[in-house]
Amino acid sequence: LLGPDGALGVTIFEEITVLSGRHNAINLGQGFPDEDGPSVISEAAREAISAGANQYAPGQGLPVLRNAVAAHQERFYGLSLDPDTQIIVSTGATEAIAAALLALTGPGDEVLTFEPFYDSYGAVIGLSGATHTTAPLRAPDFQPDLATLEDSFTERTRVVLVNNPHNPTGAVFPAETLQRIVELAAKYNAVIVTDEVYEHLTFGPRHVPVATLPGAAERTLTISSAGKTFSFTGWKIGWLSGPADLVAAVRAVKSFLSYSSGTPFQSAIALGLGMEDEFFTGIAKTLQNKRDVLSEGLRAAGLTVFEPQGTYFVNADVAPLGITDATALARRLPELVGVGAIPVAVFCHDDGARRTRSLLRFAFCKKTEVLQEAAERISKLG
Ligand code: PMP
Ligand code: GLN
Repeated sequence: LLGPDGALGVTIFEEITVLSGRHNAINLGQGFPDEDGPSVISEAAREAISAGANQYAPGQGLPVLRNAVAAHQERFYGLSLDPDTQIIVSTGATEAIAAALLALTGPGDEVLTFEPFYDSYGAVIGLSGATHTTAPLRAPDFQPDLATLEDSFTERTRVVLVNNPHNPTGAVFPAETLQRIVELAAKYNAVIVTDEVYEHLTFGPRHVPVATLPGAAERTLTISSAGKTFSFTGWKIGWLSGPADLVAAVRAVKSFLSYSSGTPFQSAIALGLGMEDEFFTGIAKTLQNKRDVLSEGLRAAGLTVFEPQGTYFVNADVAPLGITDATALARRLPELVGVGAIPVAVFCHDDGARRTRSLLRFAFCKKTEVLQEAAERISKLG
């Protein structure tokens, strides 16, 4: 993403979305659902607008949403947070990630992420002036190698930026992996920033928030967002929670990024966070079916599919089709067969890009018939 001259380029999501539009392709690139979330939530936003919730919200977020985040963390994970000092609302998870890294890191520090990594991580680490170090996740299961994980830590590791469930691979990390990360962060005195925007989108393994593990809470900032859980990615409401001193530092930076976040959406999302358990299990179940439909279609088209345990992305290898450069393919795919997908190599530095050279990431948060049609089109590649 950072060009050779240090300039920030257009994000890959934008590039593939534009190409897909130009060729009238099915866009399985950028991850956004093709159906909106619950109408009670969108109705609540409409009502908030009608009731006059149209001026700046408090910088740290509306109390009703901070209270709802605290209640959600307690209900699902048994975590107890003070809504006044331990939670802030952000303009999507993206802003929380940026504010956390800008608050905590600078030149001379290292930020460790797994690789592949979500694209904004590399860009924001670059903006902060810190050095980006990585630990590899390898196919087929994309789990970290616990035996060698410590090799990626140094005395300069200031932040370990975890993403679980993991975009782009769909991996879900078990508690023992997360516990090892906590131990190493403690040993090297690093802060853990954990991006858990897909917390409710797991297909089998239960999501374990890092902050629930022994020794973690005092050094962990947890980030989540309404976009994925409630299928309102365009509302850009996220939140960050953790120890009061770290949250205060992030809040100070957030004040000068966006200052505050969309007022009428905040109370609507507060209502969403309070929805009954069946809603949360229901979205995971619906997505699991979609995952299975697309995975089966891609397999039938001749690709090797790495079945994800979470998120709404599936990675697949096009090498069996005799294609080795998935990045070149992704740029031509909308025109060739009418499908948009993201090359996994763009989520990597050089070594990782070599390892993932023939992998594509497909989003399956789309209607079943759309997924079937997309797989049918991909089969024309073979
Ligand atoms: N983190 C990850 C891992 C993501 O996949 C995304 C995209 N949804 C984000 C952060 C950004 O979330 P938001 O749209 O809430 O800014
Ligand atoms: N998180 C979404 C994805 O991974 C895209 C968000 C964006 O366009 N920045 O597809």
